[in-house]
Amino acid sequence: MSSKAEAKVAEATAAPVVSTSDELPPPYIADSGTIVNPGFCELSWRERQDNRVPGGGMTADQYFAPCKACGLVCGDHIPAAYKAGWLDWVDPSVNFRWESHTGVAVINGEKKELLSCWICWEYDHTWVKPMLPDEWYLHMRKHFKVDGYRPCKGAAGAMQRRRNCSLTTCPKIHS
Ligand SMILES: [Zn+2]
Ligand SMILES: [Zn+2]
Ligand SMILES: [Zn+2]
Repeated sequence: MSSKAEAKVAEATAAPVVSTSDELPPPYIADSGTIVNPGFCELSWRERQDNRVPGGGMTADQYFAPCKACGLVCGDHIPAAYKAGWLDWVDPSVNFRWESHTGVAVINGEKKELLSCWICWEYDHTWVKPMLPDEWYLHMRKHFKVDGYRPCKGAAGAMQRRRNCSLTTCPKIHS
């Protein structure tokens, strides 16, 4: 067991409440907007903040145009390994994928997206080393399938932006 996992167990033991699998994830860290960007692309960092305010955030078209800061072009392919053995799999949404980017890696002459994790950052204050999309999806699969994080869904069933959620303390994951 890692020292971090041990710390979590110690915390859980000290807490007077019994943990259940239905328990909501810890509250969203509302002050993360005042903290220095740990390594996201400057525009994905800004987009994450903009998506919280009324009228903020980019349009769907803009998510597929090259990023003006790092040149990244966001894909929308979800690898089969992400959905395998998971009937009601969760689509993390292109908005959330775009917000997660840190920059571009060139591998064998091909540009690849590098993505970090907002869930680890906002709930745990842990910076995750940038990952290629396949690895990122497996990381997200663990959060949604195993850890119990849930997306906040809009009327159309997709993960919705924070600014469209009517709950001020909604514990779910937004783009
Ligand atoms: Zn960028
Ligand atoms: Zn994570
Ligand atoms: Zn919500």
